[in-house]
Amino acid sequence: MKKKILVIPGDGIGQEVTSCAKAVLEQIAAEKGYTFTFDEALMGHAAIEATGDPLPAATLDKAKASDAILFGAVGHAKYDNDPTLKVRPENGLLAIRKGLGLYANLRPIVLFEELLDASSIKADVLKGTDILFFRELTGDAYFGEKIRTADYSSDLMIYHRFEVERIAVKAFEAARSRRKKLCSVDKANVLESSRLWRNVVQEVAAHYPDVETTHLFADTAAMQLIKNPRQFDVILTTNIFGDLLTDEASQIAGSMGMLASASVGDGAGFYEPVHGSAYDIAGQNKANPLAAILSAALMLDISFGMKAEANHILQAVKQVLKDGWRTGDIASAATDKSRILGTKEMGEQVLQMIRASAVSKQEQLQN
Ligand code: NAD
Repeated sequence: MKKKILVIPGDGIGQEVTSCAKAVLEQIAAEKGYTFTFDEALMGHAAIEATGDPLPAATLDKAKASDAILFGAVGHAKYDNDPTLKVRPENGLLAIRKGLGLYANLRPIVLFEELLDASSIKADVLKGTDILFFRELTGDAYFGEKIRTADYSSDLMIYHRFEVERIAVKAFEAARSRRKKLCSVDKANVLESSRLWRNVVQEVAAHYPDVETTHLFADTAAMQLIKNPRQFDVILTTNIFGDLLTDEASQIAGSMGMLASASVGDGAGFYEPVHGSAYDIAGQNKANPLAAILSAALMLDISFGMKAEANHILQAVKQVLKDGWRTGDIASAATDKSRILGTKEMGEQVLQMIRASAVSKQEQLQN
């Protein structure tokens, strides 16, 4: 099995966490005898500094020629503190999503039992939560016409039928393979673009009578997500509401540092932790690399169909957490201080666990 993987570390902690995830992919390839070849490219602030462009053409070309992309994060304080800057790191991310035709962002909210105490939500509310978000990526106010004058501003919220249809089909298919429940989130009470969204979702739902379909307004969904997260299976939503709700849902998983995501379309898949460049902790070996490592597992599962290998990574992460190892963001008052690790050391723990479980599987086969 040969695969070409492009690594785009981006900015801030992106560099630190993608190097841990890449090491995990290398370990899996070595164990299985697969050939994963890696290339690297610039994006975001790092790319602006080097080329003036947040998404250099060379990066997009390399991405198009790859089987999958492992991405870190983009963003830098310089741009966040100066809204007048026209060339911005995030433009690189929007452009690569567009360039690769990535229209669906999948974000599993998986609750690790071991981290129940790391969340600010009560454990008995959280227990058993297992949600898969489908966030639309190419439409909405992020891509509509933008106007800014001294006294006026406007972001046009646009949705086309085909954009809603193609992601709805993916979400209903996923619901079918899970608990057969899909909740579509919009603001059809006030937004015309949401009315089209709801109509199209209803039409697609008619082809999936085995899936229980519900609709919620985004404000109610935000409230229900905290009140009773267990009620949700698949959540299908627009670009902007998905952006907000998935960050809220990150608190169910305990930390942004635990949440992986996959962006898919018709070509190469794009795998990234949900968190940003976290420049407040960048370069300090403090970032949690588990979201990036779990994103690599999603790559194996979704892009390469390697379900067993993806599960191997997931089980290794679970065992590391069960053994009490934590990064600072997921440590609690109950954590043994000697078990709080830096980024590199947490990555190394996962690698060791993957190696150890592969060896014990080999021994079982020989006995
Ligand atoms: P952020 O996700 O970078 O950080 C939010 C908070 O969570 C920070 O306190 C940070 O230290 C912490 N955090 C995030 N990831 C962590 C990890 N792996 N381990 C431990 N702690 C972690 O969000 P922000 O502070 O709002 O944004 C910082 C920059 O990142 C901005 O420039 C923003 O535009 C950008 N951003 C990029 C992406 C992306 O590239 N996909 C996503 C969100 C934000």
